[in-house]
Amino acid sequence: MTPARRIGVFGGTFDPPHHGHTAVARAVREALNLDRLEWVVSATPPHRAAPIADVFDRFAMVTLATLDEPAMIPSAREIRRGGSSFMIDTLRELRAEAAGAELFLIIGADSYDDLDNWREPAEIRAVAQLAVVPRLGANGPQALNPRPGERAVAIEMPLAAHAARAIRQELESGRDADGLIHPAVLRYLRKRGLYHGEHNGP
Ligand code: ATP
Repeated sequence: MTPARRIGVFGGTFDPPHHGHTAVARAVREALNLDRLEWVVSATPPHRAAPIADVFDRFAMVTLATLDEPAMIPSAREIRRGGSSFMIDTLRELRAEAAGAELFLIIGADSYDDLDNWREPAEIRAVAQLAVVPRLGANGPQALNPRPGERAVAIEMPLAAHAARAIRQELESGRDADGLIHPAVLRYLRKRGLYHGEHNGP
């Protein structure tokens, strides 16, 4: 297998993964001609409220959501590592594994605006290029405001209005989130009773 030269890192809680995530991942993969795109499931996100679904369920849902997406793979790095899930640790791990590869960190414009609050933002900018995608309610990626040393690319794509929080509310209230998430993800979360108050199954 030829080593990947251009690797995308798409980190998130994916609680649950939805079509907005897929649209983003496809647009970035195509725009940047990535050889591999890892959906890195954040095990214990340090900067936000704890996810509703267990990390193993979120990993399983990401596996289903990416199954037929070329070059996309679910990544268990942050689960294996344990502790708080810091993106800089993931990027360093990849840098060590894939010396010489170019790393692209995919982030929504909302997260881009917040990057200075992440752990070691300067190091993140040094190790990876940023692929910034439009996000409802955030500045457009055209309004990039690069910090020193930052290499950022604004990805042109239609705005995807999906938000996991709104989708969880749909599911909690018994409505059908069909059309917003992958059918296999929907089948899985129904089978597990996720987002209906049952958070830790077998
Ligand atoms: P929540 O509502 O739970 O905060 P989320 O979908 O924003 O959900 P994550 O699953 O952590 O949260 O998102 C992972 C990444 O995908 C983040 O960088 C986020 O900005 C980006 N993202 C999520 N949804 C969209 C969307 N509809 N359009 C563009 N980017 C998105």
